[in-house]
Amino acid sequence: MACNILVLNIGSTSFKFKYFDMDTETVIASGKIGSVFTDKSDYVFEVNGEKQEGFLDATSGYKPCLERVFSLIDEKCDGGKNAVDGIGFKTVMAGDTNFPCVLDDTVLDKMQEYSIVAPAHNTPYIEAVRVVWELFPGVVTVGSFETSFHNTIPDYAAMYPIDKEMAEKYGIRKYGFHGAAHSYAAYKLSSEGYNAKNIISVHLGGSSSVCAIKDGKSVDTSMGFSPQSGIPMNNRCGDVDVFSILYLMEKENMDSKQMRGFLSTKCGLLGMGGSNDMRVIEQQENSPVIEAYTYSTAKYICSFLAALGNVDAISFSGGIGENSISVKKSICERLSFLGVELDDSKMNEKLDTEPLLISTNSSKVKVYITPVDEELMVAKNTYTFIERR
Ligand code: ADP
Repeated sequence: MACNILVLNIGSTSFKFKYFDMDTETVIASGKIGSVFTDKSDYVFEVNGEKQEGFLDATSGYKPCLERVFSLIDEKCDGGKNAVDGIGFKTVMAGDTNFPCVLDDTVLDKMQEYSIVAPAHNTPYIEAVRVVWELFPGVVTVGSFETSFHNTIPDYAAMYPIDKEMAEKYGIRKYGFHGAAHSYAAYKLSSEGYNAKNIISVHLGGSSSVCAIKDGKSVDTSMGFSPQSGIPMNNRCGDVDVFSILYLMEKENMDSKQMRGFLSTKCGLLGMGGSNDMRVIEQQENSPVIEAYTYSTAKYICSFLAALGNVDAISFSGGIGENSISVKKSICERLSFLGVELDDSKMNEKLDTEPLLISTNSSKVKVYITPVDEELMVAKNTYTFIERR
């Protein structure tokens, strides 16, 4: 049975979409809409090899944007809107609802409950899902939570050393994030031609995390209860001694809301180096910031050897992971004791859709750049629900 899935990847002020034919896993239409909530929201769509660009008034939010996407599908794609079998969302966090599921009011309430933990993500998703229900009544909507891939992390790696009753009462433990990106690296690099069993996926973008993957399953990851922990990110802090935060709150008379804003918008590369763009940080002379970033990443990779025993492949992805040669080199130099050797001549090769091998033939660990297709993983999860109906 033919099946077409639309995937919506919602950001706080922009979103991307891909419309898949799941028989062939090919993209029928795709696009990006930026500057949502402004009167000049820019969009770029691609359908049947034709590009459409322009601006629309999105002052009221996601509704006019989604209306435009649905009318594009209706007018330009075979079968129009009726051919859409389901809509998948790359949802982020709903506590122990950490598996792909059909979205309904109960799940959205759970996302609302956890919007404190992922404020930049859950709030826009809740709004966008409600708009889809209004504009496209009856369509199956599936949430593919970013935490889902990490369900397989064993308890000993997921538990935090805090009071057991409090941890259970409030679900305080490691959930992990970036599931779509890490599961794509697992899916690709464990497939024929790559055959990696023990993989460390290093997703370095605006937000970043490292994941240990054994036989296709996540066994540990650097993000935790929230997308705040782990390596430093563009604006978010990563690992910080929790008592330093309490100390700051007392000294600066900050309440939890103010501290939440501080930790998620004023820290990371921006906090340490004054810019949230790695390209700017890379230009700074005599700055320890880039090394703080690469050291932290290498440290996580090394710590995950305790989870995996050994490593067959390291995969870099995300805006920084794909593009920054100096970051990859700095991380991999720290891994030379494992026999990791990068091949400089491969670092500048143009990326295609397949993973690019950037290690030497004699390297003991294969190193790849993997351009991740997060939407495909969401589409696959959504497809599973459509098949079952
Ligand atoms: P997001 O996590 O928001 O999806 P991306 O994965 O697109 O973000 O990564 C965006 C980040 O990638 C930018 O903020 C910038 O720091 C970094 N970046 C993009 N291009 C380069 C480059 N050529 N060199 C170094 N860093 C880059």
